[in-house]
Amino acid sequence: MDTGEIVNNKSAVRVLVLDDEPFMLKLLARMLTNLGYAQVSTCDNGHAALERVDDSDRSPNLILLDLNMPQMDGVEFARRLVEHHYAGALILVSGEDERMQQSVEKLVRAHKIPVLGHLHKPASPEGLAVLLEKWTAPTQDDSSGAPKKNSTKKIYTADEVRAAIANGELVNYYQPKVVIATGEVVGAESLVRWQHPQDGMVFPDQFIGVAEANGLIDDLTRVVLDNALAQIRRWEESGLKLRVSINVSMDNLASLDFADFVAAQVAAAGVSPQSVVLEVTESQLMRDARAPLEILTRLRLKRFKLSIDDFGTGNSSLAQLRDIPFDELKIDQSFVHGAWANDTLRALFDSSLSLAKQLGMETVAEGVEDRADWDFLRRTECDLAQGYFIARPMPAGDLSAWIQSWQKTSIDLI
Ligand code: C2E
Ligand code: CA
Ligand code: CA
Repeated sequence: MDTGEIVNNKSAVRVLVLDDEPFMLKLLARMLTNLGYAQVSTCDNGHAALERVDDSDRSPNLILLDLNMPQMDGVEFARRLVEHHYAGALILVSGEDERMQQSVEKLVRAHKIPVLGHLHKPASPEGLAVLLEKWTAPTQDDSSGAPKKNSTKKIYTADEVRAAIANGELVNYYQPKVVIATGEVVGAESLVRWQHPQDGMVFPDQFIGVAEANGLIDDLTRVVLDNALAQIRRWEESGLKLRVSINVSMDNLASLDFADFVAAQVAAAGVSPQSVVLEVTESQLMRDARAPLEILTRLRLKRFKLSIDDFGTGNSSLAQLRDIPFDELKIDQSFVHGAWANDTLRALFDSSLSLAKQLGMETVAEGVEDRADWDFLRRTECDLAQGYFIARPMPAGDLSAWIQSWQKTSIDLI
């Protein structure tokens, strides 16, 4: 074990139970003691608990928080914890239903306070033990009591990104899309990576925003498109027919010549427009206006396929569907992974799917992470699946070998 980090050492946990009901306080305190946690204290109101947090000698690093309390409720208490620089974690305790629990958890996480989970009243020792297992000690460089996260990501400058584009340091990775009913591999999404000479592989969230903000996104998209078109040709020559998706930034759709530019590139590469899918993120689509609408409509007239990405995460989903002739709808991963076990996600998933079906669009489920997600999709009408369970994004050269192994493993999945 890493000696610099104490993982779930019971003696390191200082638990505070906050609940207005004396009976619950006693019950939870006893459960904790029985589970081997020796440093347990209790408070019956938020103000007293905040004083405890301020007391550096006795400050807890884990709080069991009742949501329903008469004066300061659990949601307000969580917000006040931030003001008091609380550096530990929380377990939420209530009799609320699942949707309510999830909203509160989201709210608390938005304050950057780690939530180990929700304990449903009446609480059971087994349920409590499972949540307590998740507690990890704050490490030296991270005093938040949160499960360890990646170190902060480097932000690159415009000049660095410009140089990366010019020096050919951007490469496309490809993530397969498969037909859920048959397992057939029909397409791949191109996801750009930066092979940085010093920093190694850099992911798009560290440079796409920089490119967009500094007028570099047209150059970047040009490179990605060029590489993808050359790759489509190579795959075709080796007998592999795939539809390849490119992510298009909303900023690409600001200049009216984008449609002509894409059409010219595709023609020059000798690729048919039907082999190219342009994925546009809906949340970006909201900004404006006529140019994107005209460009996308013209691309569609030129027989490119249009895909609405991350569907369900923006606010204007319905308006966009009304105005733009999309061929494909990608249900965002936040409505896919775990939808089989969550009524709310399931309802959002089902309604996105049925909307797409009624509009005659093909549907793709993103974020298929495990067998349970896959089995769930098999019971739905969704057409295509994409996600880590099927394959992670990979270099173009790995795809043929992957398809061969997928053909063997997928026999058991269909
Ligand atoms: P996106 O278009 O929604 O792409 C899907 C992202 O989810 C990818 O992250 C992919 O690696 C990841 N992913 C795939 N399967 C799973 C899964 O099962 N679980 C989870 N949790 N994640 C999964 P990546 O490659 O880091 O890309 C992030 C975003 O960067 C993309 O989101 C896209 O918006 C943007 N992007 C990527 N390439 C380009 C590009 O060439 N141009 C532009 N403008 N944006 C790009
Ligand atoms: Ca995408
Ligand atoms: Ca997406």
